[in-house]
Amino acid sequence: MSETLTRVAFITGASRGIGKAIALRLAKDGRHVVLSSRSEGPLSELAEQIRAAGGKASVAVADVASSASITKALDDTFASLGRLDVLVNNAGITKDGLALRMSDEDWNAVINTNLTSAFVACRAGARMMMKGRFGRIVNIASTSGIVGNAGQANYAAAKAGLIGLTKTLARELGGKGVTANVVAPGYIQTDMTENLPPEIKDKIKSLLAVGRLGVVEDIAAAVAYVSSDEASFLTGQTLIVDGGMTMA
Ligand code: NDP
Repeated sequence: MSETLTRVAFITGASRGIGKAIALRLAKDGRHVVLSSRSEGPLSELAEQIRAAGGKASVAVADVASSASITKALDDTFASLGRLDVLVNNAGITKDGLALRMSDEDWNAVINTNLTSAFVACRAGARMMMKGRFGRIVNIASTSGIVGNAGQANYAAAKAGLIGLTKTLARELGGKGVTANVVAPGYIQTDMTENLPPEIKDKIKSLLAVGRLGVVEDIAAAVAYVSSDEASFLTGQTLIVDGGMTMA
């Protein structure tokens, strides 16, 4: 990489939680981060914070549940910055319930937001990466997609689907300098998990080999490596970052 080249990293779900930590970390590592989610306010605040610390950041408001919206955000990014090097598909939702009682609506919402969105973003983003003959796709899955989780049929199916999508992209794009990998977090303390009942949190903690709950920076560190220039021989992999919970 030439000294003047700044890698552009587009991160979905960057308004809070894991996505925000990924954005802060990639910005600290010298990337121009493009912060995306549906909420302009938190994204603008984060962009300001990054710029104040000497980093580079832009905002791209988009709803990943809409194919047109996320595609436009990526197109606009490429038009204004002239490149796309890293795509982190992190936006996600849960709509938990036992499979036998799960509505079509809850199934479709989670599959659409957590899986179809990543396919659409990868389809648009990979074309841009191929132009630069360099790319790092990172899809954020979950240990639920690897070992399953009672009450999360929709979520686990979407996250397992991300793994199949990623392996396929790795095979299709590897010869073009574009890698595709999954980072699969275990239990991480964020808005998504804070409403879990205390007994479930205690049970999870008792399963962790490292003896502590995960924090967002644990996932950001994994994404920083997987999306780095030096990770060029790593593709089609799922990096499980779960404090030794599953050891799957
Ligand atoms: P949060 O609920 O804290 O944040 C979710 C992010 O996704 C927000 O930035 C939200 O932005 C964005 N988002 C949700 N829906 C949409 C949408 N339709 N369009 C655009 N953005 C959207 O989640 P976490 O940080 O905990 O999770 C991040 C990722 O990590 C998810 O994919 C999740 O499945 C995965 N994960 C999390 C684990 C955990 O323990 N926390 C464990 C395993 C995986 P906004 O509302 O502003 O649009």
